[in-house]
Amino acid sequence: MSSGKGGPGLPQERKVVTEIPGPRSREIQERRLKAVPPGVGSVLPVYTVAAGGGVVVDVDGNSLIDFGSGIAVTNVGNAHPEVVRRVQDQVAAFTHTCFMVTPYEAYVEVAERLNHLTPGDHEKRTILVNSGAEAVENAVKIARYATRRPAVVVFDHGYHGRTLLTMTLTAKNMPYKEGFGPYAPEVYRMPMAYPFRSELDGPATAAQAIDQITKQIGAHNVAAVVVEPILGEGGFIEPSPGFLPAIAEFAKANGILFVADEIQTGFGRTGRLFACEHEGIVPDLITTAKGIAGGLPLAAVTGRADLMDSVHGGGLGGTYGGNPIACEAALAVLDALDAEKIVERARQIGDIMLPRLRRMAEKHPEIGDVRGRGAMIAIELVKPGTTEPDPARTAELAKACHAQGLLVLTAGTYGNVLRFLPPLVIPEHLLNEGLDLLENAFGG
Ligand SMILES: *Cc1c(COP(=O)(O)O)cnc(C)c1O
Repeated sequence: MSSGKGGPGLPQERKVVTEIPGPRSREIQERRLKAVPPGVGSVLPVYTVAAGGGVVVDVDGNSLIDFGSGIAVTNVGNAHPEVVRRVQDQVAAFTHTCFMVTPYEAYVEVAERLNHLTPGDHEKRTILVNSGAEAVENAVKIARYATRRPAVVVFDHGYHGRTLLTMTLTAKNMPYKEGFGPYAPEVYRMPMAYPFRSELDGPATAAQAIDQITKQIGAHNVAAVVVEPILGEGGFIEPSPGFLPAIAEFAKANGILFVADEIQTGFGRTGRLFACEHEGIVPDLITTAKGIAGGLPLAAVTGRADLMDSVHGGGLGGTYGGNPIACEAALAVLDALDAEKIVERARQIGDIMLPRLRRMAEKHPEIGDVRGRGAMIAIELVKPGTTEPDPARTAELAKACHAQGLLVLTAGTYGNVLRFLPPLVIPEHLLNEGLDLLENAFGG
């Protein structure tokens, strides 16, 4: 069932006309439970018919305020008109040839654009793949190949995907790893500078990590450090200042590649095109996905030309990687980022959200921390007066938001983070209304 057109032309209003989920959604949910295993969950099982601007519309006619963007994907808004136009044109021209069989220009152009836009003005190359996890897998393949070293270093609270290698790189056991072992070898996890939960500052935490790398692995055995410049699933943790630069400097001095996983932080989300820019980090390899193509499955590894070019012909690729429809969508997204000053809008969203959330935190002592950059904002919920995580309260608040028609997501190693990822094109009145609803959820 479809109600017709989505995109920014959808009425930009919250409308709750049934219980949430409504009767029609509940019917489909019943079918789903007989057709789809519960291992694939849904944050809020309202079944979507349209989305655009700052709203998601469901089969029961409810219009929800979107603070999720399909997990940081629809940065330029859902069904962006130029994405729709280019996708429609491409789908009518050809849907697939496989870039490894007969290539097409859009792939090359996406690669050129990413080489230009990502941090650093050195010569770069890009490969396109289908998902964030696949991008991270390929970054590790390239790093191992180029360095001829086996070990990969990751960090506490990190998230890198659900495939065998990337779930191994991921820190959190439940739900990502539990029962899915044995894991891939030669992955080592180091401490992360988590400002709200750590006594040590950034440089001191980095020194601890570097000491462990040196003593436990041997720097000369390490191909790469893989790190999210702001941690996503781990709870929107911005590493304490100085942590990332110290790790980057150590990596450089020891021939270890610095891989920035910008899959969640990329394409304007944090108020810069890439989050590495906040601390002036220039990664050797960078992985991107989510915000890249308005929801069409596309991901990329962009990196130093000498590293990327080192791999033998045929060593990289995949049937669907850089699908032409997804590439056209990415080109429309990259144009929109520029034309609609999307990165600036992310900063404006942060400027509206952070002060209001800080005022809420003064009234509600269960808000232990308010943090984030641009439109990647979170609150961490604790037992008042302590830093003890309160995942039950967090789940209750998310539920109260959903009931009012505000779509929010949770996150965090302790399940006690409410995260806010509105589309960067959300109208200001919906942003403010969403914050009002969140405040209601706290009980005024
Ligand atoms: C979502 C995410 C991934 C995995 O991307 P998929 O497209 O879901 O495979 C990897 N790293 C980070 C930082 C992410 O947020």
